[in-house]
Amino acid sequence: MVGSAKFEFATSASQTQNHTKLDHDPSEIRKCPNLSFTDNNFKGNQRINFVLNEDYLKAGKIAAEVREMVRGKDWIGKTVYEICEEVENEIKKRGAKCAFPVNASINEIAAHYTAEPNDPITIKDTDLVKIDLGAQINGYIADTAVTVCYDAQFDGLVQAAEDALGNAMSMIKTGVKASDIGRTIETTIKQMGFKPIANLSGHSLEQYTIHAGKSIPNIWSIGGFSLSENTAYACEPFVTTEQGGGFVRNGKIKNIFAINSRKKTKNDEADKLLNFIWENFNMLPFALRWITKEWEEKEAKELLDILIKKKAVQAYPVLIEINEQRVAQAEHTFIPGESGVTVTTKALSQYNE
Ligand code: MN
Ligand code: MN
Repeated sequence: MVGSAKFEFATSASQTQNHTKLDHDPSEIRKCPNLSFTDNNFKGNQRINFVLNEDYLKAGKIAAEVREMVRGKDWIGKTVYEICEEVENEIKKRGAKCAFPVNASINEIAAHYTAEPNDPITIKDTDLVKIDLGAQINGYIADTAVTVCYDAQFDGLVQAAEDALGNAMSMIKTGVKASDIGRTIETTIKQMGFKPIANLSGHSLEQYTIHAGKSIPNIWSIGGFSLSENTAYACEPFVTTEQGGGFVRNGKIKNIFAINSRKKTKNDEADKLLNFIWENFNMLPFALRWITKEWEEKEAKELLDILIKKKAVQAYPVLIEINEQRVAQAEHTFIPGESGVTVTTKALSQYNE
């Protein structure tokens, strides 16, 4: 999943609202078995950070494994339904939950397309597909993406996204300015003869929150914030061709949803669905596919429409390159440290220190 930059271009207000934070019961924070509460040398935030990082690392390892499986596989002839279901099953098989529905965004669709139930759209040998996946453990999220491309003409586009991400990761440590990361991404992409998507950005992450308020831009911009220690962020360069506008707009299709507020709707069945969503996905995004085991598809759609009208649920539109040019993406989740970075979603072969 992707954030929108502050200087928003034609994206709706709902895009920036993102996810409401949870009221967490602190007693829900898992106890760490190796350390005792009476240990005077280890208390307060340190303890919580330690516990957070363990789950971030576990989720990251699973997300990285699944992403590398996705990268290596030939998806030509598969439907987006088969892809999304298979990738989600790989995440669950490894012991994590899906942090959001797998996005399979083809060609000029930059992000936020997930399969409808039995979605028949099929990958062709000329397509370029961004597969964006998220794993979570106890709400701690790993968000990562890869572009698969079967048309050699666009290999450079994919490489530019990977190189921009790699260069960004190499410069990360606590205190680095987000605007400097944006400059590195922009410079890398332009030197390779492509354009960054200016109104898509990476984002800070918090427990059960994909977009936690801070943006990691894909271009240089004035001001901004500096990276904090022990905070998780996602960096996700999006790249288009020289003919591209370098911006995305909202499309008509909306097939990713998330709870906005848990208010009653005066419709018992819609309230029941809202409770089901809360219990299963919390504030995290979900797809129609994820509720059609419990509700028949037609009814699920109608109930979802009621929840959207009542603003209990928000729907995310797909994001399309304004000149309908192809878009490539690469993404990692990382946690800055004093002397460098922990890329939670790194592949075993990447960023070896
Ligand atoms: Mn993301
Ligand atoms: Mn993502």
